[in-house]
Amino acid sequence: MQLRIGNGYDIHRLVPGRALILGGQRLEHPAGLGLDGHSDADVLVHAIMDALLGALSLGDIGLYFPPDDQQWQGADSLELLEQVVALVMERGWSVVNVDSVLVAERPKLKPHIASMRSAIAARMGLAADQVGVKATTNEQLGAEGREEGISCHAVVLLQKP
Ligand SMILES: [Zn+2]
Repeated sequence: MQLRIGNGYDIHRLVPGRALILGGQRLEHPAGLGLDGHSDADVLVHAIMDALLGALSLGDIGLYFPPDDQQWQGADSLELLEQVVALVMERGWSVVNVDSVLVAERPKLKPHIASMRSAIAARMGLAADQVGVKATTNEQLGAEGREEGISCHAVVLLQKP
């Protein structure tokens, strides 16, 4: 059996007048902020997509869904994730598991973790226990700590028989 590991990272700015979508779930930020970006700016799903592509040295999401392409404006990132999973499966690989950590001061993410995991797992054709989503604050340090943005780190493991 062959194994591959992939690492992904993403960050988006928090701005007024945008929805806050993480793991396909629409959340309320206490200051009314949301993530800025060309698509729905779902930083969690973007980090997972980059980890999947990275595991097979297929580049990054900017290559497949360029921000200057109108086609992806306001795109539902879970749909883009499905396309990336299809690329992986076409090459004969399957996902063993995903793990991720969101870095955000607010809102409290814990109540939403289970729904994020099941939404991501459903789109990837996985069981919820194959998708780890964790959340941490940045102890008020750095860009995430000042609520200038929300970032996410993800790793995936792929196998091929
Ligand atoms: Zn992104």
